[in-house]
Amino acid sequence: MKLLEERIRQDGRILGKDILKVDTFLNHQIDPELMQKIGDEFATIFRDVAIDKILTVESSGIEPAVMTGLALHVPVVFARKNKSLTLPDGVWTADVYSFTKQTINHIMIDQRFLTAGERVLIIDDFLANGQAVAGLVAIVTQAHAEIVGAGIVIEKAFQQGRQLLDEAGIRVESLARIAAFENGQITFMA
Ligand code: 5GP
Repeated sequence: MKLLEERIRQDGRILGKDILKVDTFLNHQIDPELMQKIGDEFATIFRDVAIDKILTVESSGIEPAVMTGLALHVPVVFARKNKSLTLPDGVWTADVYSFTKQTINHIMIDQRFLTAGERVLIIDDFLANGQAVAGLVAIVTQAHAEIVGAGIVIEKAFQQGRQLLDEAGIRVESLARIAAFENGQITFMA
């Protein structure tokens, strides 16, 4: 998505060797118009599949997920990160390791909001090593629901996430695919 790539080039800041900061439009301040275009783009890409529900993780997945849900006219559910040591009853859960924060997040979804047979599209802000999406996949599997694909706003194609999801047979569609960070410059996949 050209508009998104331009925005990343303009506003993105590279931290360390593999982190991209995009807090001017996605991860802190949000550009609603850009988010709406992102939602429309996902809706166009996945127009050929039946989708009952969109699933994401709080917090930064929520805005592209909601805009996609708006465009597709389907509900959006976000997994909560469980901070307490005890789990409430009636939830699907998974552990998600964060390479960026080097912590494990326990994510959970109330079982009322994901049921057997539902066709689920996963949306997230970033794909890095694939742990967040893998956690959502684990939850969808527990619920005996079905994954129709994963829509990613920014994929860091030099990390392992894509391979992991390919191996799991999941269709992944990313709007911006970063090939490398080199000398402070962002290179996109051709
Ligand atoms: P993964 O689970 O694929 O390793 O990482 C995905 C999650 O980590 C995303 O949901 C995002 O919150 C966070 N993340 C990974 N890499 C980056 C990055 O370069 N920049 C930002 N802002 N978040 C990232």
